Amino acid sequence: MTIPLDQLPVVVIGAGPVGLAAAAHLAERGLPRIVLEAGDAPAAAIRQWGHVRLFSPWRFNIDPAAARLLTAAGWIRPGDDELPTGAQLADDYLRPLAGLPAIKDDIRYGARVAAITRLGLDRLRSTGRADTPLLVRLATGEDLLARAVIDASGTWSTPNVLGAAGIPAHGERDVADRIDTALPDVLGRDRHRFAGRRILVAGAGHSAANTLLALADLAERAPGTSVTWAIRAASPARTYGGQTADALPARGAIGSRLREHVESGAITLLTGFGVQRLTPTGDAVVVSDGTREVTVDRIVAATGFRPDHTITGELRLDLDPVVGSTRALAPLIDPNEHSCGTVPPHGADELSHPEPGYYAIGSKSYGRAPTFLLATGYEQARSVVAALAGDWDAAREVQLDLPETGVCNSNPVAQPAGRGLATGIAGGLLSSPLTVVDRTPPAARAGDGCCG
Ligand SMILES: Cc1cc2nc3c(=O)[nH]c(=O)nc-3n(C[C@H](O)[C@H](O)[C@H](O)COP(=O)(O)OP(=O)(O)OC[C@H]3O[C@@H](n4cnc5c(N)ncnc54)[C@H](O)[C@@H]3O)c2cc1C
Repeated sequence: MTIPLDQLPVVVIGAGPVGLAAAAHLAERGLPRIVLEAGDAPAAAIRQWGHVRLFSPWRFNIDPAAARLLTAAGWIRPGDDELPTGAQLADDYLRPLAGLPAIKDDIRYGARVAAITRLGLDRLRSTGRADTPLLVRLATGEDLLARAVIDASGTWSTPNVLGAAGIPAHGERDVADRIDTALPDVLGRDRHRFAGRRILVAGAGHSAANTLLALADLAERAPGTSVTWAIRAASPARTYGGQTADALPARGAIGSRLREHVESGAITLLTGFGVQRLTPTGDAVVVSDGTREVTVDRIVAATGFRPDHTITGELRLDLDPVVGSTRALAPLIDPNEHSCGTVPPHGADELSHPEPGYYAIGSKSYGRAPTFLLATGYEQARSVVAALAGDWDAAREVQLDLPETGVCNSNPVAQPAGRGLATGIAGGLLSSPLTVVDRTPPAARAGDGCCG
């Protein structure tokens, strides 16, 4: 029996800011929808970094369709120029949005998507593909049918490893209990793990900068706390970013403060340091780049995030081999060419795959590129929903008004002069000199960006 696609809902994966924006646009257009969220509340990922203040003010963090629905329900919009923390973004905007009558009943919490395919068709079968429902399987084994899937599942749950080559460093798994992934709450919930300890932070993105500033603060109050910062680049210039010239002053200030701490010696900086090996020694860990060693008690791997493409293994996706976004989007978000604020507007056309009806939007759509901003995701949501409604004029009228930044800017930063890359690949395993062609954009490597 064939099931007409238009009788099926659009399934949205993830009740983060971009998934909920998609739900708001679907509600406005009257399209049936189900939002599947792995967590037990909206904004499950953002709540993990609720203690961190966003660098973009409220005006860039609220989706227009969501704002219309919320305002109609009597919501008081936060001040445009204020900078929310992650917790405030969740409590003052996303929770009320998810609680609106137009959206509330469409969300299923504790619903982790394990796989997406087409009903009765594996990836090889072509006949009738476009007219066959998508099948979404939950981790519980339950199957749901969909006319389309908007995958806004983010990248938070798949952080990059510490190993400089993109696979775990030697010994990394053996010391997993001494490694925190990005953005532990070092001044609050997680303070006991960091106070009075020697800490290494690896990574050059916004997450690393935030953690380093919090650790420098902790070191002033908790004797014995020391902070070392390891980056693979030859210079921290990209992390310092635009500083006073940044169009988002809050983000510029992070770079300036970090620089002061490095220059004062409060933070010890190791440049050209790609983690190769981690060796436990008593309660400590020796971290090596193949040449140098540093002994610490704990490590924060602020090395960025990558999308989880395993759930879409049976779909026909055309992914860019470097970034992991769609091929059409990759040149638009290439961190060599674009900062967060110079990414051109894009929508359903650029987000389409050969697989009809599947779109990844939000931070997942950028793959490993660290230049994602919420405002971009909201425009993606609007355009994709318009396309699903058959309104291609609206889908193609993409617009974005973003503050250009100085942080993930377009100047390719010199990579570690020969040594960093060569030892990074050799890692003590290869002895002969190599000719290496490295196509990976510098900022797409782990953590080298604005938001990772
Ligand atoms: C510390 C930090 C600060 C940032 N600051 C800014 C800023 O100032 N301005 C800005 O514009 N951007 C900022 N960003 C970038 C970006 O806006 C955020 O990462 C944002 O949360 C991305 O939204 P999303 O909806 O795409 O993904 P997420 O917020 O990660 O939401 C994804 C949701 O999907 C759920 N999920 C995941 N897998 C599954 C599954 N298999 N099944 C069901 N549900 C699933 C998760 O539980 C989660 O609720 C920041 C990011 C970080 C990490």
